[in-house]
Amino acid sequence: MDTNKTVAVIGGGIAGMEAATFLSARGITVYLIEKEDKLGGHLLDWERLFPTMRNGSEVVKFLMDGVKADNIKIMLSSKLTAAEKSGKGYNLRINENVDLFADAVLVTTGYDLFDATKKEEYGYGIYDNVITSADLEKIFMSGKALQTKQGNVPKKIGLVHCVGSRDEKAGNVYCSKVCCVTGVKQAIEIKQKMPYTEVFNFYMDLRMYGMHFEALYKKAQADFGIQFIRGRLSEASEDQNGGIILKVEDTLMGKPLKLTVDILVLLIGLIPAKGSKEVGELFGLKNGVNGFYKTTDQHTLTNSSNVDGVFFAGACTSPKTITNTITDARAAASTVAAYLFNYRSLERKIEQNEDFWLYNTK
Ligand code: SF4
Repeated sequence: MDTNKTVAVIGGGIAGMEAATFLSARGITVYLIEKEDKLGGHLLDWERLFPTMRNGSEVVKFLMDGVKADNIKIMLSSKLTAAEKSGKGYNLRINENVDLFADAVLVTTGYDLFDATKKEEYGYGIYDNVITSADLEKIFMSGKALQTKQGNVPKKIGLVHCVGSRDEKAGNVYCSKVCCVTGVKQAIEIKQKMPYTEVFNFYMDLRMYGMHFEALYKKAQADFGIQFIRGRLSEASEDQNGGIILKVEDTLMGKPLKLTVDILVLLIGLIPAKGSKEVGELFGLKNGVNGFYKTTDQHTLTNSSNVDGVFFAGACTSPKTITNTITDARAAASTVAAYLFNYRSLERKIEQNEDFWLYNTK
């Protein structure tokens, strides 16, 4: 099928690439607009993926194979700078010098990672041996050995869950969904590389909701001896050797715990992307209470926005795993195609209920 329809996909990460693939298979011309100089988004920064430990590059290759179609026009180092309604579609300006028309727009701007320096009490950016889960992943990808800044093999490593998530002080009350299982995966990887290093995960509760996540957690304890301590880190400080002294309230034992680790890893959460805010302002898109884009309905219309002809896919509406992002991208492609071809209107009414009551504790 060859149609004369065009869709602009804003964002070339997992959701954008997979949605572009499925739209192109329906004969739709896709402009895949990515601000960076390559496609792949955050996936490029992850060496191995939970729960199977598959190499992330395999999924990148799968997605890249999808966007090789002639009717997908990949635009790298490209930023949407203006958008104007024109008939049923949109006139779009890219980088101030390229104009194009799209019959519909699919926004796939993803997420940013929480800035760990905002949790000053944990010492990121202050103490040498406090790193984030994203930093640890970069070390894994580089193939270099994990060592302290002083050049020593770490004997003890701590991983702290919920950094910048489920935290009113940080302004993010939601669960980021992927960091518990990332913490388990990274703890296992540390033990695989350094079997004699003791690894401690400090958590509020473990959210192993996905298929095989629970098995990975069990394996972490039974096969790798990783210690899971239920408690919130209240403060980290540095000793004279560069060790990180942790003060934790062990909520299972009901007593305070003090422990010194050689490296502390902060499992940072997912936050709404800066790029989402910019794109949202161009189209007048609404945000939900957590700052991610607000979908038309939480249960039934999860790829639709408040603006005619503009749709969402992926983690720009809420934190998602890779699996969930790919599924959501395909659903979004289907929703956009239904909008464009209108063989049968899919519009159905549902009473709207706001999500604000969830956060109103009064
Ligand atoms: S997934 Fe786990 S670490 Fe991440 S915010 Fe939720 S409970 Fe915290």
